Amino acid sequence: MDAHLIMVAIVGAWLVIAAAVFVGLFFVTAPYGRHVRGGWGPTLPNRYGWLVMEAPAALVFLAGFAVGPHNGSVTAWVFLAMWETHYVYRAFVYPFTLQDDGRRMPLSVVGMALAFNTVNAGLNSWWLFDLSGGYLNAWLADPRFLAGIALFVAGMAANRRSDATLRELRASSVSDTSGPHGPVSLPAEAASRYRIPEGGFYRWVSCPNYLGEMVEWIGWAIATWSLPGLAFAVWTVANLVPRARAHHEWYRRHFTDYPAERKTLIPGIW
Ligand code: NDP
Repeated sequence: MDAHLIMVAIVGAWLVIAAAVFVGLFFVTAPYGRHVRGGWGPTLPNRYGWLVMEAPAALVFLAGFAVGPHNGSVTAWVFLAMWETHYVYRAFVYPFTLQDDGRRMPLSVVGMALAFNTVNAGLNSWWLFDLSGGYLNAWLADPRFLAGIALFVAGMAANRRSDATLRELRASSVSDTSGPHGPVSLPAEAASRYRIPEGGFYRWVSCPNYLGEMVEWIGWAIATWSLPGLAFAVWTVANLVPRARAHHEWYRRHFTDYPAERKTLIPGIW
């Protein structure tokens, strides 16, 4: 069968799975972070979970670039740089910014994310450095590339800034368990680990890190103007929209003084 048809068939099936995951995650929140719970099998420390599940995205994409027949243009290198700027950080830096506080995540979650990252990085690199036939350097001046990379960079900046706010909050909540918002009725675990994030994009939404991540990969889809890029953006939305809703409801349940005007993910709308 023609390789392009195989790609279209795989991405079609991949999108159907994304739609099922999107619906499913509204009913079953992925059990890591604040939503971790028993019944999901053996666990491993958070830090190593992040490393193991995200590393394939960096490595598989790099391998696809290395063996691809169309990896010589400046555009190919720019795509490599965009992808790896995200994934080298996410896989090899982000895990070591997390507090080593004994938190764990189920191996089953790590396994699912690892499988996703392997397929996703494989499809994107297969398209960009092989099946596309190569992007000309003139693509770098195309309005789709320019708009896409602008969104990509803006999304990444919002994601990193917002994650940094949470990191600073975690550091302060671990050193001071009294809470900056007065005596609210929090379970001990939540009181000691979580605070209400303030400032930056948190003025408007509960999960600006997720919003940034979504904008980033929508930017990637536009910049690459590709089916695998589109599928990645759809998967990111499918993963993060239900999780943002779960986070937002969790904040409202656990903090009686949670800002009423703050939305879930889209400023002023939802
Ligand atoms: P969260 O926002 O749930 O948590 C990020 C970190 O901040 C965790 O260490 C968390 O601790 C801590 N934290 C969160 N809220 C608070 C708070 N209120 N007070 C103190 N500490 C807090 O993000 P995720 O862990 O789900 O995701 C991490 C990154 O990975 C994000 O940038 C996200 O965009 C990205 N991601 C991308 C996906 C994709 O499909 N492309 C899928 C999932 C994540 P704890 O773990 O203990 O809750």
